[in-house]
Amino acid sequence: MRLVLLGAPGSGKGTQAKSISDHFKIKKIVLGDILREEVKKGTELGGKVRGYMQKGLLVPDDIVALVIKEHIDNQGFVMDGYPRNINQAHILDEILQEKNITLDRVIYLDVTQDTVMERLLGRRVCKRCGANYHIKNMPPKVENVCDICGGELVQREDDTYEVTKKRWEVFQKEAEAILDYYRKKGILISVDANKNAEEVFAEILTKLDTSGEYS
Ligand code: AMP
Repeated sequence: MRLVLLGAPGSGKGTQAKSISDHFKIKKIVLGDILREEVKKGTELGGKVRGYMQKGLLVPDDIVALVIKEHIDNQGFVMDGYPRNINQAHILDEILQEKNITLDRVIYLDVTQDTVMERLLGRRVCKRCGANYHIKNMPPKVENVCDICGGELVQREDDTYEVTKKRWEVFQKEAEAILDYYRKKGILISVDANKNAEEVFAEILTKLDTSGEYS
């Protein structure tokens, strides 16, 4: 199964990608995480993308295309964070065609701006293992300490009010064209992602199940 998750920053793509990946036993391709790792390691790629990420802007399409191409093979996957504009959707089609594979479904996590701001400003991430928390909705057992590995919980560099607002605007600007593209292909599923994570996941499973065969 090959799935793409679309949605504004804070729509819950990371959480749902993990649930989907565990449930169907397919790998996750999370572009934001891959890029953050490159920045952390101080690689050449990391150096190229850091400035864009700090400002909440999209990294140029040709740079991220190379990263995506490297991570797609003939196994099943759930992809989070790509494509983010219509040009990237076309590039993804080319990559898939070259590899002789197709997408089964594109899942759109539909949220309001209020939900996004509340989620992102309260998000905390483990510095060591990357696990996600929320100060109100998903707090760790001990304040600022990861339940899984004991690492320190921090706010992501781009989860500030200004950058969050910018990322919302960037998403909205590109969203309609990209949703329309997959709607016309007949593979778009839309889910109300203002609800809690379990409810959203249940709706995804139901809609995947009732939206026809996928291989
Ligand atoms: P995310 O973790 O998905 O919110 O992504 C964090 C940042 O990584 C974004 O604000 C962009 O700077 C960069 N990024 C992630 N995905 C893409 C993409 N598909 N195209 C360009 N830049 C991206």
